[in-house]
Amino acid sequence: MLRAIYRTQQLTVKPHLPGIFRFFDWLPADHCLEVGGKPATYKSTYLAQRLGLAQLYISFNGYWPEREANLLTGSFKELEAPSVLARLPEHYRRTLVVASAGNTGRAFAHICSSLERSLYLVIPEKNLDAIWSTSKFYSGVRLIVVSGGGDYADAIALAKQIGQLDGFFPEGGAANVARRDGMGLTVLDAATTLGQIPAHYFQAVGSGTGGVSAWEANQRLLQDGRFGTQTMKLHLAQNSPFTPMVEAWKQGSRVLANRSEQVIKAQIDRVSAKVLTNRNPAYAIAGGVYEALIQTGGQMYAVTNPATIRARRLFKELEGIDISPSAGIATAALLQAVETDALQKTDCILLNITSGGTERIRQDYSLHYLSPRMAFSPREIHSGSALEHVEKQLLSV
Ligand SMILES: *Cc1c(COP(=O)(O)O)cnc(C)c1O
Repeated sequence: MLRAIYRTQQLTVKPHLPGIFRFFDWLPADHCLEVGGKPATYKSTYLAQRLGLAQLYISFNGYWPEREANLLTGSFKELEAPSVLARLPEHYRRTLVVASAGNTGRAFAHICSSLERSLYLVIPEKNLDAIWSTSKFYSGVRLIVVSGGGDYADAIALAKQIGQLDGFFPEGGAANVARRDGMGLTVLDAATTLGQIPAHYFQAVGSGTGGVSAWEANQRLLQDGRFGTQTMKLHLAQNSPFTPMVEAWKQGSRVLANRSEQVIKAQIDRVSAKVLTNRNPAYAIAGGVYEALIQTGGQMYAVTNPATIRARRLFKELEGIDISPSAGIATAALLQAVETDALQKTDCILLNITSGGTERIRQDYSLHYLSPRMAFSPREIHSGSALEHVEKQLLSV
């Protein structure tokens, strides 16, 4: 994977810049955008006490006004959307195309709306209720759904087709440096808040992009030189029974096992954290999850649905805010690590709560939902007739 190299080797945080752009030095952008929200790092008291941990830090990525956490779509996908948009030249005319199962789509739809940027968003119809915003949507943000039981893989296929049309461009996924350096801000925010690089990093992964981003941020902080010499051990978790990376890692394999379509669909159906069900994660690729785990002495965890529910309850009871299933999986992995002595109780630990406070958002705001402009079945997508239809629509406006 391509990696960004920044002119400034030492990071200067610029708190006067909006949202994530306080880390402008290490974002692949030449201008800022007027957006709010950033990771909020704080030291846990009650969860730490319960687990007997001396230095447990939470990177809270979501909405929690008392902690100054203001990501209004409730997940860390809102760190990458502004970063991706700011990487484009100002006054760039082409329309961004994004495929998503939920959080990424909600983040891009919200951020593009607030900046009045056009967007084509493709999602499975069953994830429609994930596309909401605390403000009204801008008319240039257009939603297309995959109907007839189609899933994320079908949405990706259609987004790829549209992205190749004149006047459009695809977002790029894990390969987009702006996306990774946006997600890596959780680690930059933690290190600049604590004054040091943590020893352990816990996150739930689907595409693995966030794990890779954390590792890349760690390397930049090492080069900076002021945050210690720590290589952060990555502890990455997936939701059983869909755990392709965990299985490959435990077998010492760089390649993911081949599974039949039927097996994959059945596994995905049983997973509570649907945002983690990426079938083609950035695992084997050079600079991907496998290498990141090798280089950091990392580890992977499989977490069941009941363990996820318990961890979410525990977090809410002890820390005082609701967290998403994915964040529950990361928390459950931390519980496993404590039980199996995968860390020392005095170690500096960073737990990435990748999404939280959506219940709070619903209490504090009334939500707007985005209605789809078009719907296509998987068959229409794969035969090319969906794309023809989109092109016709474009010609008629
Ligand atoms: C996307 C997402 C993840 C997984 O992120 P990757 O690093 O891309 O695998 C975890 N939690 C939440 C809430 C997400 O939206």
